[in-house]
Amino acid sequence: MYLLRIVFLEPFKAVLGDISRRELYWLFISNAHIPILCSRRAAVIASRVRLISLIFFVCTPLWIPLDALFLPANLWQAVAVAHIVASVCFLGLTISARRVMTINAALAHMLLMLLVPAVFYSFVYVYLASANLDWLATSFSMGYTILPFVVVAGMGIFPLTYVESIAITVPILLVQIVATSLELPVFNWPSFVGSLWLLVLISGVATLSCCSQLALMILLVRENIRDSLTGCFARAGGQEMLEFQFEQARRNRTRLTLAFLDLDNFKSINDTYGHDAGDLAIRSAASAIQLHLRASDLLVRWGGEEFLLVFPGASADEARLALERIVGSGFGYRPDGSSLTASIGVAERVEDEAASWSELIEIADRRMYRAKEIGRNRLIGAAEEAPTKGTLAR
Ligand code: GH3
Ligand code: MG
Ligand code: MG
Repeated sequence: MYLLRIVFLEPFKAVLGDISRRELYWLFISNAHIPILCSRRAAVIASRVRLISLIFFVCTPLWIPLDALFLPANLWQAVAVAHIVASVCFLGLTISARRVMTINAALAHMLLMLLVPAVFYSFVYVYLASANLDWLATSFSMGYTILPFVVVAGMGIFPLTYVESIAITVPILLVQIVATSLELPVFNWPSFVGSLWLLVLISGVATLSCCSQLALMILLVRENIRDSLTGCFARAGGQEMLEFQFEQARRNRTRLTLAFLDLDNFKSINDTYGHDAGDLAIRSAASAIQLHLRASDLLVRWGGEEFLLVFPGASADEARLALERIVGSGFGYRPDGSSLTASIGVAERVEDEAASWSELIEIADRRMYRAKEIGRNRLIGAAEEAPTKGTLAR
């Protein structure tokens, strides 16, 4: 394990910068990617599929006049039909990638885009190999052997995990090996072994390129979504995560509880002890809260000394248990040694019949203000609000 760390992980970290263990795992497998990374990756993959498909849609038919020039009439006409079919497929991908929203749809489009030249290549390969060509036509048809290289190198422009990249390159290498073993007359062994090596090399470089793009994306997403003072989610990233969680909960009809938390009398810390002391108090409050959250819960710094806590899958009662633990162990201390306290408003998607994530925030925010009004340092949920419901809206 130690050897693995110094030989593999540490040089890797040196290249990738300050990447955490969790983020390193994301480079290999996508199943634990956070929603925001999935949506960014889907957008980048879909936009690249659109661009490359458009280029291939235009360029593929341009090959037809060259075929007509070098190949016998019966051959070039069949290959021309294949060119047109491939070009239409690229056009279809250009159009349908516009609507891609999820990472699975984006990956499916990318695979289809890589599959079109692969199928086209197999067709042309078998077709030309079985024909009796003169030396000029044979030399020209050798140009088609670059297609597997185009496919593998083309993969290199996408941000993919190691597993995804390997899952794409291995079948291409296998197809190339099967093609070799068929010993069809257009190609010969020595040049094939040479080209197979080259293909392996390009596959390796493309895989590294895919993963370094993903690493860069992970670092950018992190910069974007993390709050630099506390390390928890910043407002923009947190909002995107909440939107996603709310949508998931609505679709799966599951619970989603949200707590709006505002530190009490915070301004006086700044006024008396300065801004740095205030920053320190915000940071210690965030780490105190984080200690009691599960990996699936979200902590978002919504504003200066305001936090959102999101509990996906938890009812208000379940979330309340976690919140009581947090309140019980405290939010750290004010510079004068007294305890830092918070006012908390709690709302749950189903119980409070919230139609949107913003409505859920509004309800929790309203309850937090109610907690301020009646003395601070307390938690208000639907139950506490009920007796005076209707009179509390700000
Ligand atoms: P209340 O109990 O009613 O919430 O009183 P409060 O003083 O906490 O409320 P208010 O919203 O009036 O003040 C919040 C203060 O938080 C204002 C601002 O000076 C301070 N604050 C906001 N962001 C930061 C920050 O990033 N660092 C520091 N040090 N202070 C901040
Ligand atoms: Mg405030
Ligand atoms: Mg406050």
